[in-house]
Amino acid sequence: MARFFVLSFCSGKEERMMNRRIYLASPHMSEEGYEQEYVKEAFDTNWIAPLGKNVDEFERELAKYVGIGHAAALSAGTAAIHLALKAANVGEGDIVFCQDLTFSATANPIIYQKAIPVFIDSDEETWNMDPKALEEAFNKYPEVKAVLVVHLYGLSADMDKITEICKKYNVALIEDAAESLGTTYKGQATGTFGEYGIFSFNGNKIITTSGGGMLVSNDEERIKKARFWATQARDQARHYQHSELGFNYRMSNVVAGVGRGQLKVLDQRVAKKKKIFEFYKQELEQLEGVKMMPVNDWNEPNFWLSCLTLEGKVKPIDVMEALEKENIESRPIWKPMHMQPFFEQYDFVGEGISQKLFENGVCLPSDTKMTEEDLVRIVKIIKELW
Ligand SMILES: *Cc1c(COP(=O)(O)O)cnc(C)c1O
Repeated sequence: MARFFVLSFCSGKEERMMNRRIYLASPHMSEEGYEQEYVKEAFDTNWIAPLGKNVDEFERELAKYVGIGHAAALSAGTAAIHLALKAANVGEGDIVFCQDLTFSATANPIIYQKAIPVFIDSDEETWNMDPKALEEAFNKYPEVKAVLVVHLYGLSADMDKITEICKKYNVALIEDAAESLGTTYKGQATGTFGEYGIFSFNGNKIITTSGGGMLVSNDEERIKKARFWATQARDQARHYQHSELGFNYRMSNVVAGVGRGQLKVLDQRVAKKKKIFEFYKQELEQLEGVKMMPVNDWNEPNFWLSCLTLEGKVKPIDVMEALEKENIESRPIWKPMHMQPFFEQYDFVGEGISQKLFENGVCLPSDTKMTEEDLVRIVKIIKELW
């Protein structure tokens, strides 16, 4: 929340608090104004609709960027997960293996489909789905319908192992790459390994359209079908004819214009995020008990958020409170789904790594608009705790 103080009453401390707030990750439009050019074109041509040139081109450009055949631009990443599940024929009573350590938006669409999530633990080497726990879950629930893996904070899951297991059991793999646009695993973009991948352009993601998402796949028919469901499932007819349940999930042509502009600066954003991470790593890993999130040599992350774990006398809450006092945002790692009241009735397979990461982890401010001075200040505040 913004804080306002009357200048003449300011103490030194309050003056610091008047400083511009530093965010975890906030929207960062291009300095060149690319987004406004595309949005202006939408206005100039009156294509203020959930269809138009920006939508078509944004789909094409994003698919090209990640190296996949087809994409459907949608109103949110959550909508994309929902339609991915539908496309994978997940329906009432079906079991879906879902990464436990994630944002609830990953798991909610499983419930929209009246399906049953089984939550799979993470491993310490990737922070994402543990292939061993996944294998164990397959033994327990051989009738499973789909696997939903997540690439948290821009780190990639161990995709060779996970795709191999899914192939072995012939089960559809869906990748929630909402946080990992720009990340590669052995040179291949996350979101392109499974049958379906999804991206998000919410306000806090590495590029944003204020809100929006994308469903990608190499299966052209399924992407066409997703677009059909996303536009109220209107059959080919002059009158309004519906033989399936529809949704209003299409992306606006205005929003897609923002996305096209943002895509032009994605590589720039990744480069800056990487610099932020490397600075933290260099400065903070020398502190006792501090470990930065794991970057494996087969993984080129987008470093969406720089995160660390603490094992020692300084606790995550100490770091978060010290930063908050200086009007700097930080947060714990995602609270695992099996610990959420809404999901506690569902099964969990694993050894409690996700819980350990939640209890010991902190997401540090990773905003690409931060200056070098900001970073030096943040590191100094943290170091003072040791
Ligand atoms: C942001 C996010 C989503 C949801 O995307 P929206 O576009 O906000 O609907 C899903 N999964 C993960 C892991 C996310 O971080």
